[in-house]
Amino acid sequence: MASTETSAELFDITILGAGPAGLFAAYYSGFRTFRVKIIDALPALGGQVGTVYGEREILDVPGYPRIMGRELVEQLQAQADQHHPTICLGERAHTLRRETDGSIRIITDRGEHHTRVVLLTGLGVPAAAAGAGPGLDGHGAQPGLKALRLEGVPAGFTFDGDAIRVTTRMETGVPGIYAAGDAATYPGKLRLIAVSFSEACTAVNNAATYINPKASVFPGHSSTKVEQATGGAMTGGEAEVKL
Ligand SMILES: Cc1cc2nc3c(=O)[nH]c(=O)nc-3n(C[C@H](O)[C@H](O)[C@H](O)COP(=O)(O)OP(=O)(O)OC[C@H]3O[C@@H](n4cnc5c(N)ncnc54)[C@H](O)[C@@H]3O)c2cc1C
Repeated sequence: MASTETSAELFDITILGAGPAGLFAAYYSGFRTFRVKIIDALPALGGQVGTVYGEREILDVPGYPRIMGRELVEQLQAQADQHHPTICLGERAHTLRRETDGSIRIITDRGEHHTRVVLLTGLGVPAAAAGAGPGLDGHGAQPGLKALRLEGVPAGFTFDGDAIRVTTRMETGVPGIYAAGDAATYPGKLRLIAVSFSEACTAVNNAATYINPKASVFPGHSSTKVEQATGGAMTGGEAEVKL
């Protein structure tokens, strides 16, 4: 994965948080041919899975009867890496500012980033990584989402507890800012890895229509794309994939 600290370059989607939701969102952003960047306050990828329970077995990730946390992070990274996302680690975002052209400037403790869409995924830095010891709580000693400053927008996020209320499209209510994973909430929400994958997929594909109103929400089937890339039969699905 490429790495950079700060850039004036305009990205299509910038994901705050490199946990399971953020890494899978990075894969999907690449699948939709978006220029994607991930920013995480931690020095490594994986969010809670990597930091809090990398050496434990997880039993409820679809397709893996059991998998070590660390191994799941490696697989998510390998999947995201196919589309070469730009990764900025050790950098905490504290302000999102709407620019006059509608894009968003993300200001961190190390620099600034420029993007069309922001996807929020983390509630804060996992407690184990924030100096609170290797406890079992995912979040604790950290500035959470409520500490994120919003500038240049008429209204802010609606919180339900520590997470942001989202629509079924994973919209936060602030145009161009989506949430998925533990950062997002709605009635019936479950804070689970499997759920975060689905939300990441929904967020990125709905963001596609924010970036390009002519784009389809449906991304096409990855299996169809592979068939096309290897010279197999065309199904006509590609027309829906173009942005
Ligand atoms: C001990 C434990 C065991 C668990 N076991 C399971 C299990 O068996 N199965 C299961 O499905 N779920 C399990 N979970 C829950 C699961 O880990 C979470 O639901 C999942 O990690 C959420 O993924 P996420 O990507 O939304 O957020 P996270 O994994 O929390 O990642 C968010 C990332 O965002 C970063 N971040 C936050 N704010 C900022 C900022 N302002 N700037 C930059 N970076 C920021 C954080 O540093 C973090 O790396 C467990 C949780 C814990 C704590």
